[in-house]
Amino acid sequence: MHAFATRAIHDGQEPDPRTGAVNVPIYLTSTYQLEGIDKHRGWEYSRVSNPTRDALETCLASLEGGATGHAFASGMAAIAALVTMLNVSDHVICGDNVYGGTTRLFSQVIVRHGIEFSYVDTSDPDNVRRALRPNTKLVHIETPTNPLMILTDIRAVGEICHQHGVPMSVDNTFMSPYFQRPIELGADIVMHSTTKFLNGHSDGLGGVLVTRSPEHAENFRFVQKNTGGVLSPFESWLILRGVKTLAVRMRQHNENGRQVAALLAKHPKISRVFYPGLPTHPQHELAKRQASGFGSMMSFEMGSRANAERLLQAIRVCTNGESLGGVETLISHSATTTHAALSPEERARIGITDGLVRISVGIEDIGDILEDLDRALKAV
Ligand SMILES: *Cc1c(COP(=O)(O)O)cnc(C)c1O
Repeated sequence: MHAFATRAIHDGQEPDPRTGAVNVPIYLTSTYQLEGIDKHRGWEYSRVSNPTRDALETCLASLEGGATGHAFASGMAAIAALVTMLNVSDHVICGDNVYGGTTRLFSQVIVRHGIEFSYVDTSDPDNVRRALRPNTKLVHIETPTNPLMILTDIRAVGEICHQHGVPMSVDNTFMSPYFQRPIELGADIVMHSTTKFLNGHSDGLGGVLVTRSPEHAENFRFVQKNTGGVLSPFESWLILRGVKTLAVRMRQHNENGRQVAALLAKHPKISRVFYPGLPTHPQHELAKRQASGFGSMMSFEMGSRANAERLLQAIRVCTNGESLGGVETLISHSATTTHAALSPEERARIGITDGLVRISVGIEDIGDILEDLDRALKAV
């Protein structure tokens, strides 16, 4: 098996057999000529499978060390597909600080279909053990969490799940498979919003589920075919193109992230920085153990909403915006964006203050990013 960076460029992406095209073509076709009754060349209809999407799915499965990949129209569509493996009266244990859209989908949509959810702080694996019930059929975690960068020990939670025969899914969006591969640590399913680091250029939406068992693979293939929320050939191609540079981008994200964290950590106007790469992060050792880098997501405390507002008004190179994982540095105010749907009490309970600011450090020149932040902080 080749190394990661090579697989990112080649797996699932052999030169086109007909023309020799080095890049996987965008197969803009809904249907395929059949060779006879019940005889096809591997493709019949693009909701079921499409060569461009196949290439992406093969590549992402390879990068995560899984058996199959299943691409959906967005990260949320992938999570929605994930829970179709459940039946009425099943119980799910979900991290209490996962992506806001995930909680909203579970607690406002899926719960109406007779599935029960327990939200627990998975940073202590014992909380997962305590929440297990005879009808628990899925444990869903996300590590690190947004925006406070709290980690869950994937291996420890995986062991608990396996002792009880419960599959574990991990939302690996923040780290990407370049730094963290949950299947190697015991996960059964890995989920991504490919919108973020995998695509990396903030120009398309997508989601993927990577499985390791043939059973889950069959289920997700069936769901792709029957719910139809699949990724388009064009977006599949965009993500394939993004993934080719994942290794170099992630190395630079990590390097820039480290330097931004160092600047913020010693800045007098910032009282706290949440970044697993800092030795002061309470789970720094776990971060080193389960991932090969720290990435470029972090948050920091500006003390008040007014201070956060001044910072966001003063930045010039960095952009005030939601989302993450693109080549550009994005800064956002968590309480009014990603966590706006929570009540002030709920935000306070999980530690999201009005002064908290999240940054997705991009891969612009690090000197320019640091200068921009330093200058903007002076304006506060
Ligand atoms: C963005 C995001 C999602 C949702 O993905 P979409 O592509 O926006 O639907 C899920 N999980 C995490 C961690 C995310 O950052």
